[in-house]
Amino acid sequence: MQVLNKSARPVAGSQRAQGSRRSSKMPVIRAVAAVEKTLVTTKSDEVMAEARTLFPGGVNSPVRAFRSVGGNPIVFDRVKGPYCWDVDGNKYVDYIGSWGPAIVGAANDEVNEVLRAQLEKGTSFGAPGPLENVLAKMVIDRVPSVEMVRFVSSGTEACLSVLRLMRAYTKREKVLKFVGCYHGHADSFLVKAGSGVATLGLPDSPGVPASTAAATLNATYNDLESVREVFAANKGQIAGVILEPVVGNSGFIVPTKEFLEGLREITKAEGALLCFDEVMTGFRIAKGCAQEHFGITPDLTTMGKVIGGGLPVGAYGGRKDIMELVAPAGPMYQAGTLSGNPLAMAAGIKTLEILGRPGAYEHLDRVTSKLVDGIVAAAKESGHAITAGHISGMFGFFFCDGPITCYEDAAAKADTAKFARFHRAMLEEGVYLAPSQFEAGFTGLQHTDADIEFTIEAARRVLKRI
Ligand SMILES: *Cc1c(COP(=O)(O)O)cnc(C)c1O
Repeated sequence: MQVLNKSARPVAGSQRAQGSRRSSKMPVIRAVAAVEKTLVTTKSDEVMAEARTLFPGGVNSPVRAFRSVGGNPIVFDRVKGPYCWDVDGNKYVDYIGSWGPAIVGAANDEVNEVLRAQLEKGTSFGAPGPLENVLAKMVIDRVPSVEMVRFVSSGTEACLSVLRLMRAYTKREKVLKFVGCYHGHADSFLVKAGSGVATLGLPDSPGVPASTAAATLNATYNDLESVREVFAANKGQIAGVILEPVVGNSGFIVPTKEFLEGLREITKAEGALLCFDEVMTGFRIAKGCAQEHFGITPDLTTMGKVIGGGLPVGAYGGRKDIMELVAPAGPMYQAGTLSGNPLAMAAGIKTLEILGRPGAYEHLDRVTSKLVDGIVAAAKESGHAITAGHISGMFGFFFCDGPITCYEDAAAKADTAKFARFHRAMLEEGVYLAPSQFEAGFTGLQHTDADIEFTIEAARRVLKRI
């Protein structure tokens, strides 16, 4: 029965009347017929049931398990443009986009074309290739702080490498981060580290040595006084400050200009380095990343997600005199078998090229503000407290009154139970949102006005009944 309800779910946008609903029904029913008649379940549920016997929690990255909103995750069959389809054939407007990389639309035709061409030339060299230079020049050209760059294979790898570099350059060991900011899962960063960790109730992961955690200091986002206090208590010992220049891993939280300016001044005065972790914000907030948007130039920058166009790429870069400490130019060791992978470089180059075309960021800004304004209006119509924001193609909202300036605010005020009900109901309406109140949402170039209107209408119906 659940299957019929699920398959009868409204299909997104103008393709509502298209055959995806009917054609999807048959395999589902057959799959169900194959199991006990009383055990009516969806194909997504079946795949997840098996996955739980194969992977810890049934997933290969924790947030995917939907723990903080409850219920089973949907299991993906395919993605295209701003849409995803689950293995039961249901279609959704996708506001996660693989957590950011799908900014030019999933399975973009132009990206696919360069991938096919590169496939014929080989998927991995483990040796220098010209595409690395092309992507490096695009990054150096666009990102104000980057004079030299090193490609790696994930955001985690970029962040753990940049931390080693900050320590190598300053010959100091401590690092200052902010409560609720996520910088990948390296030991040093798993201290008060945002959504995945926070919503799982693992504020400090077991397995992180106490000595490592002790070298990680935390301050409060948007609170310069807390930063000054930490520096005063650790005089001459802090190698650098790392932050999300717009927070996405505690929900969407914007910095004040004064906060970023203050961090720039304090780090300079204290002989510490400033690193913007732009793994999420890079090439999303603006063509030159969040640092260009706010006009603050850090010493170092980490990148990921968008830069790989859907393939695994991360990068760190910054001032040349710092980057030249990295091996083999300098003594700080860091390496990777698949670093600069030609397939990933090809996808990254095409993605940044598309983002460089006139009107790209204007489109992101326009559809995202329309979406956020629509959701806020729908919430208010139904008497829900809500505070929301967006910059370019990144957005978020909390079910509470604002302002929310840091993770501590969000954790204390946001109605996570209401968010869980909202999330599940939106899923049933054909809208795929991040499965946590403490995750930002993402739009892409292929989201249309019709997709946004479809989403707002769904939100209006859902907010009336939750
Ligand atoms: C996603 C993310 C990371 C980690 O990147 P992975 O590719 O998942 O390892 C690091 N920092 C920020 C800000 C992120 O959003």
